[in-house]
Amino acid sequence: MTTFSDLCTAELSKAQHDSNHVGGVCRVNQNDSYLVTFHNNGYDTAASPPTMGETVLQLDPAPRIPSVRATLKKEVEDTYEHPAKREHRYWETMVEIAESGRMSYEHEALILHRERLRYGLDNYEGAVKKIKEQQLANVKGKRAIAAQEMEKRYDPVAHSKMTSGIAEEQYIALQKRSLTYPHEYASPRVENTAGGHAEENFIRAWSALCMHIPEKITNIELYITRMPCPDVSSGFWLGAHLYNEGCMGKLAKLITTADEAIRWQITYSQTLNGADQAFSQSLSRHFPEDRVTFLVHGA
Ligand SMILES: [Zn+2]
Repeated sequence: MTTFSDLCTAELSKAQHDSNHVGGVCRVNQNDSYLVTFHNNGYDTAASPPTMGETVLQLDPAPRIPSVRATLKKEVEDTYEHPAKREHRYWETMVEIAESGRMSYEHEALILHRERLRYGLDNYEGAVKKIKEQQLANVKGKRAIAAQEMEKRYDPVAHSKMTSGIAEEQYIALQKRSLTYPHEYASPRVENTAGGHAEENFIRAWSALCMHIPEKITNIELYITRMPCPDVSSGFWLGAHLYNEGCMGKLAKLITTADEAIRWQITYSQTLNGADQAFSQSLSRHFPEDRVTFLVHGA
């Protein structure tokens, strides 16, 4: 009979031969009759549902949310826009408005026209043209000054480095703060039929898994070849629950929403690269302490 340990060894072997492979095995109630295997696939291919023996576990739909990191970055860029750049952008817009004829100059033109009438110069069209030229020259002049100032005071590379740093700090803080995002990051829901990380495929099959186990689930052993990522997989909705970006947070969310009677043991072999490892480690704080044990198995 195939054992939990056999399947774990097989998945690790695949992962060691193919750096793109992340596999997992789940054993329910410490019973080798209830073994589920799952693995990752690219976002551009169809999702592979986990299997329990011959049984294919159906995946629940999981509409994704837009990249929270990208949304945050845009917010930070807007907030910290360099004043010289903002000034230039303002005059750039004003030139566009003047050139497209959307700027209102009728009032000024009428005043000019009336002055001319006093001297018997009856040419309203000419007055409009003159005012328009003046206004265009005026805003173009201001734009030129703003461009010079921008050249002197604004270093796009340094500024972008600064805003990226702030955005990244805010993103990490957001990931660590809670298992859900503020409302503004949680929509729209983008339909998704493509694949995902191994943990995502497992989570999407959780309700099918529960349906196929004929007894009360009290124990889950989860083996994943690589430590779950802190932020790579995009966020998704499962029914009413928002699952944050990253598989660490997603697993924590699954455990907090699943039956409290279940004890979980999560083991992985391969670690992540430098900063990701520490980031992912820091997210383990989201796991309910009394219900989860986290282990690293020598790779
Ligand atoms: Zn992941």
